[in-house]
Amino acid sequence: MKVAVVGAGIGGLCVAVGLQRNGADVTVFERSDRVRAGGSGLSIFGNGLRALESLGLREQFEAITSPEAATYRSGQRRPDGRWLATIPPDAVSDLRIVHRTDLHHMLLAQLQPGTLRCSMEVIGAHSDGIVRIRHTPGSASEQDFDLVVAADGLHSGFRARWGRDPGVRYAGYSAWRGITSTPVDLQGEAGETWGEQMRFGVAPLADGRVYWFGVATMPRRRPLSAPYEYAELNRMFGTWHSPIPELIRTTEPEAVSFLPIDELAGDLPSYRHGRCVLLGDAAHAMTPNLGQGGGQAMEDAATLAALLSPIAAGVNPDERTIDSILNSYDKARRPRTQALARRSRRLGTLAHVRGRSRTAVRDLLLQTTPPSALRSQLKRTQDWHPPEVAAVPRRMSSPSGRCEPALLHRHKSRLGG
Ligand SMILES: Cc1cc2nc3c(=O)[nH]c(=O)nc-3n(C[C@H](O)[C@H](O)[C@H](O)COP(=O)(O)OP(=O)(O)OC[C@H]3O[C@@H](n4cnc5c(N)ncnc54)[C@H](O)[C@@H]3O)c2cc1C
Repeated sequence: MKVAVVGAGIGGLCVAVGLQRNGADVTVFERSDRVRAGGSGLSIFGNGLRALESLGLREQFEAITSPEAATYRSGQRRPDGRWLATIPPDAVSDLRIVHRTDLHHMLLAQLQPGTLRCSMEVIGAHSDGIVRIRHTPGSASEQDFDLVVAADGLHSGFRARWGRDPGVRYAGYSAWRGITSTPVDLQGEAGETWGEQMRFGVAPLADGRVYWFGVATMPRRRPLSAPYEYAELNRMFGTWHSPIPELIRTTEPEAVSFLPIDELAGDLPSYRHGRCVLLGDAAHAMTPNLGQGGGQAMEDAATLAALLSPIAAGVNPDERTIDSILNSYDKARRPRTQALARRSRRLGTLAHVRGRSRTAVRDLLLQTTPPSALRSQLKRTQDWHPPEVAAVPRRMSSPSGRCEPALLHRHKSRLGG
């Protein structure tokens, strides 16, 4: 089957790899002139790891990360360095920290040559799979696909065109992110430090350098000059416990990025429309408080690739078959991703409570939460497995090579969660 993937972010590349491995004829359209990963890090938890495994990417992913990050003491600290809560190590034993650039390179290396088409912006798609593409700069053309996967991110044009777009809203806080230019010894401690309406997170990369982020409540604003942002960062976090000042000092000002945190303003009623389907941030852009946005994009990709596997290598897939698969995808992905987006928002509200007394109550809450409650919450978040899809016996395929719709109802699925 012919599949157009719109957007070469984590979600688009993961689904492209999975579908291509299953025999689909995949084209990835990216409007930028190259794939932009952004110079920061990403936490991937056990669920993301299982999604990558299902896509046949676990080994490649393990090669660019280190399991050592999972052995670090983690949790929440106060700005003076005292621990408020420690995450039970067994709850995050599959945690990996990856440099986004490494992840993108790894994913791109798995695609067949010619799959990725840069400087091509998809400016429209009919629900029957006809896609309109603008070649930048220059003319536009139309191409026909069996399926269109819209992995076009937070500001998805597809979502907007479907007419049920809740829009995007500012979470009330913004983030600076960076990676130190040299290795820094974290002495086995990572995690987050929570102050009043501010927090700082630290995560070790496989090569010894450190990915960090600072988050603060503020009115929404645009990124300003590198020296300005660097000075702001130092003003806010420069007196916090070690190694926070050192991490900022060992990061080049030009390597610090500032980003207002936006999320989808409400739940979508469906992730599909005709032969088009939303994936990743386009469907469920969430605040980064749980570190799950990328992991959910990976789960989406693994789910869609698995559900389509019986028909991916065929031609002219049956309309009803596609319909049934996309409904299954929607049913599997919407409840879980929307619930996680809500939980992530609530965590952000807790982290950014205003006023000394509320901050003290929040800290007390963190100190008195039993490790068993933390463990079960983290395990629940990561408790995801790809759908099990029964292979279609060859003799039961239709003479045209299409998969009969009835066969697809045999899917034994362990969907969502
Ligand atoms: C501060 C911060 C920290 C985060 N930390 C984590 C973390 O630790 N762990 C985690 O799992 N997640 C994290 N996330 C979330 C994660 O970054 C996102 O969920 C993930 O990158 C989304 O990937 P995507 O492929 O859906 O979208 P994107 O990465 O936005 O990709 C969309 C792509 O589509 C392209 N595009 C858009 N429109 C068109 C068009 N019309 N035609 C062609 N191309 C188009 C864009 O150019 C872009 O390349 C974090 C997010 C933020 C903001």
